[in-house]
This record gives sequence, structure tokens and C-alpha cells, in this order.
Amino acid sequence: MNPIPFDYTIKPNPRRRRMAICVTPAGEVIVRTPPRTSKKSVTLMLQQNIPWVLDAVSRAQSKIDHQWRWEPGGVMPLLGQPVRVGIAEDGRARIENGQILLSGSSPDEWIQSGVAIYRQFAQKYMPAIVERFAPVVGNSPASIAIGGAATSWGCCKKNGVIRFSWRLVCMEPAFIEYVAVHELCHLRHFDHSPAFWGEVAKILPDWKVRKNLPAVANIAAWLISVLPVGGRKGSRND
Ligand SMILES: [Zn+2]
Repeated sequence: MNPIPFDYTIKPNPRRRRMAICVTPAGEVIVRTPPRTSKKSVTLMLQQNIPWVLDAVSRAQSKIDHQWRWEPGGVMPLLGQPVRVGIAEDGRARIENGQILLSGSSPDEWIQSGVAIYRQFAQKYMPAIVERFAPVVGNSPASIAIGGAATSWGCCKKNGVIRFSWRLVCMEPAFIEYVAVHELCHLRHFDHSPAFWGEVAKILPDWKVRKNLPAVANIAAWLISVLPVGGRKGSRND
């Protein structure tokens, strides 16, 4: 048998009945398996699908927008727009005069200071968006928190706390507004029932367009390629 020519992660799911291979937007291969699936049957299935997986991985990688670079001289996405990146001579990482000024002298330090800048930005920007939509939705959160989740943009806890990922402020405002409205509607409907989606549609009739903006998928894939889930390259919280 041939070796598998790519890395992959096995994710067992107790409710799953069949195996499935998925390629994420960042080009990672994930095998979802029912309980008690043998390693051998996973390998066998991967071997039967090598050409398909390689093709899907290369298509995913070619879709990642490589204009974004988290380093001096590059551009980073902020609110869906390219923003020039420089170095803060005084070591104070910040956004100034339409430029992102990073601190540090190595790629890891640049990423860490970039994350800190985006977190700070999100801490001001997200409450403002929520404040704008809360009266329209008719619900206000108990509080707003900013986290570093890589695979979810926001979540709403039963105690009324809404949490957003700082990664959200990379995206265009139309998408950010959709995520904010989505979480605010969860304060009334704690599920994804038709009643929930009806509520979202009342506030944002074009929510489906906003949710599926291709630029959002591109930037998200790029972010995951720079700062993978678990944040090996970022600060510990990300
Ligand atoms: Zn939801």
C-alpha cells in the first residue's frame, strides 16, 4: 500500500454513521469518523481518494488570498480593506494615520503585536456595533467579550454574555453586522430554529448574502494559515 502523501486529522463523532473526508478552506484534511472506526479503514479510504484530496487541497490553497502579509511592508485586512503595515519606531504597536504599526523584530513578534492591535480594535468596535443593533433586535447582552476563536465568529451564552473573536474585525462591516445580529437574536431564540432565522431576516433581509461573502472566506482561510486553530504562532490565548 502507498503511504498517504498529505497530513490529516481524524475527528471521531459519536453521532456519525459514515466516514467522510473534508478539506477545510485552509487546505487541511479532516477525516470524520463514526465511533469505533479502525485506523486501517481510515487509511484505506484515504488511499482510495488520494487524487481527489490532493486536488481539493491545491484548489483550497490557490483560493487563499496571498496579498495579505502580517509583516512590515505588507498589507493586512481591517474591516475588509487592505491596510499598510509598518514598524512602530517607539515599540508601541498601534493603528495610526491609516497604517498598522507593529512592534517586534521577528515574524512571531509581528504576529503577536498584530493580534494585540486587532484585539484592542475589536474591544471598541464590537460594542459599538452591538449598541447600534440591540434596540432594533430588542435585546441587549449582559456583557460583550472578545476572544480568539479561529473557527467561530461569535457565540452567545445562556447567561447573556456575547463573545466575539477578534478575527471578525478583519472582515467587511456587512459581515460583522450579520454576526452581531445573529448573536443578538440568540438572546431570544437559543437555537437555530425557523423562528430564529425569521428574526434574523426581519433585521437583515440580505443576511444570506452577508453570511456568504467570498472575501470573508478568503481572509478566514488566510488567517487560519497564519494563525492555526490552537494558535501555535500567536499568543497563548489565540
Ligand atoms: Zn448561532
